[in-house]
Amino acid sequence: MRMSAFFLPTLKETPTEAQIVSHRLMLRAGMIRQTSAGIYSWLPLGWRVLRRIEQIVREEQDAAGAQEVLMPTIQSADLWRESGRYDDYGKEMLRITDRHEREMLYGPTNEEMITDIFRTFVKSYRQLPLNLYHIQWKFRDEIRPRFGVMRGREFLMKDAYSFDIDAAGAKRSYQAMFLAYLRTFARMGLKAIPMRADTGPIGGDLSHEFIILAETGESGVFCDKQWLDLDVLAEAPNHGDDLQAFFDRFTSIYAATDEKHDADDPSTPKDLVSARGIEVGHIFYFGTKYSKPMNAAVAGPDGEPVLVEMGSYGIGVSRLVAAIIEASHDENGIIWPDAVAPFKVGLINLKPGDAETDRVCGDLYAGLGASGVDVLYDDRDERPGVKFADMDLIGLPWHLVVGPRGLKNGTVELKRRATGAREELSVEAALAKLIA
Ligand code: ATP
Ligand code: MG
Repeated sequence: MRMSAFFLPTLKETPTEAQIVSHRLMLRAGMIRQTSAGIYSWLPLGWRVLRRIEQIVREEQDAAGAQEVLMPTIQSADLWRESGRYDDYGKEMLRITDRHEREMLYGPTNEEMITDIFRTFVKSYRQLPLNLYHIQWKFRDEIRPRFGVMRGREFLMKDAYSFDIDAAGAKRSYQAMFLAYLRTFARMGLKAIPMRADTGPIGGDLSHEFIILAETGESGVFCDKQWLDLDVLAEAPNHGDDLQAFFDRFTSIYAATDEKHDADDPSTPKDLVSARGIEVGHIFYFGTKYSKPMNAAVAGPDGEPVLVEMGSYGIGVSRLVAAIIEASHDENGIIWPDAVAPFKVGLINLKPGDAETDRVCGDLYAGLGASGVDVLYDDRDERPGVKFADMDLIGLPWHLVVGPRGLKNGTVELKRRATGAREELSVEAALAKLIA
C-alpha cells in the first residue's frame, strides 16, 4: 500500500477526551472513529489489526477442535425467556421492538441461541463432544463505556460453546479451551495470566479470566514470577497431546495466583507480584445451567435422555487491539508485535523525486510484495522528520529507510521498531532479511 493513497487520518495533537494511552494512540494513528458513546467505526489501519487478531483467535479455536459458525446479532426475546435471563440481564441488554411489536434484542452473548441450535439438531451422545464458536459483534449497554474500544458498548467477541455428555468430558473441553487461550495470547506476543474468577450472570462453577498486565487495567491481579518467565508456546503441548499433564504442570506453577488475594493480608505469599491488568478472555464451565431450562438433552448409551454439560468461552477481540497497545508502546507510539502488525514493513522514501531513490524504493516495494510481505510505502512528499514520526506512531515492526546519501554507498537502513536497533545493509541483504 502506498501511503499517498492510504486512508490514514493521523492526528498531530493528543486528543484530550482519551484517558488512557491505547485510546490516545488509536485515535492519533487513525485507527478508529467514535460514532456514539462506546460505538466505533474501524478505519483501514485499525481494521487490519482487528482482522489479524481475529485470525489468530480463529486458527487456535480450529486447532482445538472447535467449529466456526455465525449467529446473528439480533435475537428473539423468547429464547431468553426460556432461560430466565430476559428479565435478569437488566439494562445492559439493548431491547428492540420490530414492526410487528415482537420483542427482539441485540445479543450481549449467545448461550441461549447456541443451545437452541444444539437441541434442534443433536440427538445422540455419539455426536458429542461438540464445540461451536463464532466471532460476532455484541452489544452491552455498559453504564460507563470508556477507554475507547477497551470498554465499548458494541464490541467484537469470539464466543465458543462446548457440549459434552458428562462432567468429565466437559472438563476436558474446558482444558482444551484453556490451552487454546494460552496459545492464542502467546502468539500475539502477550503474557496472559489465568485467574480463577467469579462466574457472574453467566453462572456456573468453574471459571478463569485471562488477564494481560497493564498499569491502566481495571482488574487487580497477583502473579507468580515463575509464570511470567514461562514460554507458553514452547511448553504447552500441541492440541491433542496430553492436556491433563500440561494442566497439572501448569497448575503447579500458578496455583498461588489461582485465587484472589488481599494485598494487606499477611498470609498472601510474597513471591507474588501485585499488578494491574486487562481482562481479555473469560471461560466458564456451567454444567446444565442452560440445557436444563431449555431442555437440551441427547440419548445416552442406554437410550435414556441426558442433559448436556456445557461451557462457554469468550475472547474480547476488539478489546485485544487496545490491550496489546497498552502492553506494547513507547513515548513515540505503538509497537505492534509482528503477528498482529497491520503491515510488516514501513518503507520510507527520504527523497521522492530523486530518480535513484525512487527506483530502489520501487524495486523494494515490488520485491517485498511479490514475496507476500505486507509493506506500507511512504512515498509522500513530506519532510523526513514527519515520515519518521508517523512511522513510529503507527508502530510497524520494521522500518526500511532509503535515501540518496545511503545509496551512494550502496546501502539502506533497517530499523527494528521495538528496540530502535538500526543497521546499514545492501538492498539485497535488506530484502533477504525481511523475506526470511
Ligand atoms: P468485564 O468484567 O470486563 O465487563 P465480562 O466478564 O462482562 O467482562 P464476558 O461476558 O466474559 O465479559 O465477555 C468475554 C470477553 O469479552 C471479556 O473477557 C472481555 O475481553 C470482552 N468484553 C466484555 N465486555 C466488553 C466491553 N464492554 N467492551 C469490549 N470488550 C468486552
Ligand atoms: Mg461485563
